[in-house]
Amino acid sequence: MNLVNHQFRLAARPVGLPKRNDWNYVEEPVRDPGPGEVLIKVLYLSLDPAMRGWMNAGRSYIAPVEIGAVMRAGGAGRVIASANPAFTVGDHVTGVVGVQEYALMDAQSAKGLVKVDPKLLPLPVYVSALGLTGLTAYFGLLEVGQAKAGDTVVVSGAAGATGMVVGQIAKIKGCRAVGIAGGTEKCNYVVNDLGFDACIDYKSQNVAEELRKHCPKGVNVYFDNVGGEILDTVLAQLARGARVVICGAISQYNSTTGFRGPSNYMSLLVNSARMEGFVVFNYAARYPEAARELAGWMMAGKLKSKEDIVEGFQTFPETLLKLFRGENFGKLMIKVAEA
Ligand code: NAP
Repeated sequence: MNLVNHQFRLAARPVGLPKRNDWNYVEEPVRDPGPGEVLIKVLYLSLDPAMRGWMNAGRSYIAPVEIGAVMRAGGAGRVIASANPAFTVGDHVTGVVGVQEYALMDAQSAKGLVKVDPKLLPLPVYVSALGLTGLTAYFGLLEVGQAKAGDTVVVSGAAGATGMVVGQIAKIKGCRAVGIAGGTEKCNYVVNDLGFDACIDYKSQNVAEELRKHCPKGVNVYFDNVGGEILDTVLAQLARGARVVICGAISQYNSTTGFRGPSNYMSLLVNSARMEGFVVFNYAARYPEAARELAGWMMAGKLKSKEDIVEGFQTFPETLLKLFRGENFGKLMIKVAEA
C-alpha cells in the first residue's frame, strides 16, 4: 500500500497535565487489510476530557490505555481499503480510531464503526452534536436527569461540547436553561446564539449569588461537567426532588492532590434529591433512536453544533491541553487530513 502511519502512543502515565514527553510519536508502514479488516484514513480526531482518565492506571468504566499503546480516541474517517463485506472503499465512518493517521480495524473493532453521510451534514457534526457528545447530553439530561417542561436546568461547562447541547435540549423540552461557563464571550454565545435563558461567568461572577437570581425556585436538574467548587455551590441551591447528573469533573482530572468531593451533600437529604453518575456507553443500544431525534432537531433548526477544529495531527499533545485550560469553544477536534 506504500502508506506511512504516524501515531501518538502513551509513553508514561502523566502526573498533572500531560506533557509532551508523556507521548511517543511513532512512524510505521501501513499494512493491507487482512480478512475482516478495514483500513480507515482518519480525517478528524475527537479530543475529549475523558482521555486524561484513560491515561491513568486503575479500575474505571473502561480499561486504561497501556503504556506503549496508541492513544484511544474517537474520530471520523474514510474507508480506503476493505476486506470486510460491511464496508466499501469511500464509506465515511465514525468510531474509535485512535490518535493516528490510519486505523486498521479488525472485524470485532469494525463493529463499533458507524457509517455517516457527509453530503447530509459536515463530517465534524457526526463527532460533535450528532456523535457521542450529543448522545451524552441527551441521555444524561433526559434519562438520568429526567428533565421535564417547567424544570430549571443548570449546566456547567455550558459553552463546551456537551454543555451546549444540554442547554439546547433543555430549551426544546420546555425547561429554563441556565449555563455556567468561563468568560463573557462564551456566556454571550450560549444566551444569544443558543437560546439559554441565562449564563453565569464563573470566572468573574459570584456563582452562588447569580444562581439565586436566575433560579429563584431552586435548581431542579444540575448537569455537572466540572465538579469541584461549582458542584458544591449548586448543591446548596437544589429544589425539592432535584436530580444532580454527574457527567464529568474536569476541574479535578489533573489534580495532583486528590479529587475534591462535595461537602454540601446533605442538601440531597434535605431536598429529597438524588445525585447519579452515568457513562454514555450504558445507552449504546439506544444510540440510533437518540441520534435520529438529535438529527431531527438539527434539521428543524432547533439544535446547533459548534466545533473548534485545530489543523495538524502533530499538534495533538498541545491541543489536548486546551480542554483543561478552557481554550476550546465548542467540540474540540483535530483535522488530520483533507476529506
Ligand atoms: P468541553 O466542555 O468541550 O471542554 C471542556 C471545558 O471544561 C473547557 O472548555 C472549560 O470551559 C471547562 N473547564 C476546564 N477546566 C475547568 C475548571 N477547572 N473549572 C470549570 N470548568 C473547566 O468538553 P466535553 O467533551 O463536552 O466534556 C465535558 C464534560 O463531560 C467532561 O467532564 C467530560 O469528562 C464529560 N463527559 C462525560 C461523558 C460520560 O459518558 N459521562 C461523556 C462525554 C463527556 P470554560 O471555559 O467554561 O471553563
